[in-house]
Amino acid sequence: MKVYERPSLKALNTFGLDATATLRIDIESEEDLLALPHFEPATDLVLGGGSNVVLASDVPGTVFVNKVRGIALLDEQQGQVDIEVGAGENWNNLVQWSLDQGLSGLENLTLIPGSVGAAPMQNIGAYGVELSSVVQTVTTWDWRKQAWRVFDYEACQFDYRDSVFKSVEPGRYLVTSVRFRLNRRFTPQIGYAGLSQALEGQELTARAVSQAVARIRMSKLPDPAKTGNAGSFFKNPRVEASRGEALLEQFPGLPAWKAPSSTTKLSAAWMIDHCGLKGMQAGGAMVSSQHALVLVNSGGATGADVLRLASQVQDSVEDRFGIRLEPEPNIINFSDS
Ligand SMILES: Cc1cc2nc3c(=O)[nH]c(=O)nc-3n(C[C@H](O)[C@H](O)[C@H](O)COP(=O)(O)OP(=O)(O)OC[C@H]3O[C@@H](n4cnc5c(N)ncnc54)[C@H](O)[C@@H]3O)c2cc1C
Repeated sequence: MKVYERPSLKALNTFGLDATATLRIDIESEEDLLALPHFEPATDLVLGGGSNVVLASDVPGTVFVNKVRGIALLDEQQGQVDIEVGAGENWNNLVQWSLDQGLSGLENLTLIPGSVGAAPMQNIGAYGVELSSVVQTVTTWDWRKQAWRVFDYEACQFDYRDSVFKSVEPGRYLVTSVRFRLNRRFTPQIGYAGLSQALEGQELTARAVSQAVARIRMSKLPDPAKTGNAGSFFKNPRVEASRGEALLEQFPGLPAWKAPSSTTKLSAAWMIDHCGLKGMQAGGAMVSSQHALVLVNSGGATGADVLRLASQVQDSVEDRFGIRLEPEPNIINFSDS
């Protein structure tokens, strides 16, 4: 375990927001967990790669960074391969490792930043695939009971950018490892807009899909290494199917998809773009001119700038479409509590 006093958190969040904590503890092994001080949700924070947080205040207590690594092959039966992966592994490294092993299932989730441990939090998803399609169990440390708890698939309560860990009991569980079931046999999932076109003329393999996803992502999304951001800032809203139909009559260009429970998912990016908000700024925060769904740090942004800009976007979209967009990243604001 490594301990740092009064650490800066600027390099620990991809938005590049300046914040500090009282202490930073890097957890490097499962044994470290048993020696850790208690986690206090009112003052402490867990971070992986910091790619899905907005640090809107300093952290008054401790930031725990999960660095427990390791990938173990557990079982292989009839082409299905179970692996257990430490929460501190980098997500994209895991995707690349799986391709090197001739395994498929993760290829559509190529280049999502962050750690394996954070992936179940919001059930990461991209290009028509969600993490939930490959998860078997999530192993956690229950801070409250000071005990291990293994969540099976049902108990994770996965939903669109959501899970039990994110919204039902936030801050209670530290994810320590995730068990995945991957496949030797490749079943392509390339129905998502643009993906099949990007693969035209190529042999259809898991690696080809991964490379196509990487190309599309790099052409569309600002690179956080160059311009601070947290990826998509708003979720695509889901409305009753009848409401969706009415909106589509009014705004025929609005991209919409059928979603579970007779709902329709609408494109938040289109709505923001349609309001003419690309390039809008609040202090150092800006609506990306490359992708309307992404808020970026155009230089010296504070957490307050990002929140101000986010609420201006929410207000404009609500005025125009009658829908209040919901932020996707976790807003960390200890001055509220
Ligand atoms: C350029 C860019 C593109 C992105 N594209 C996508 C995308 O296509 N699809 C998508 O779903 N997401 C996307 N994201 C969001 C982000 O990459 C994912 O949500 C990712 O899983 C976050 O991982 P992280 O380790 O950085 O989490 P962090 O930002 O460090 O943490 C996120 C949340 O999880 C909690 N947490 C972190 N680790 C643990 C743990 N071990 N146990 C318990 N709680 C934990 C934190 O407290 C926080 O609440 C993108 C982000 C960026 C910057």
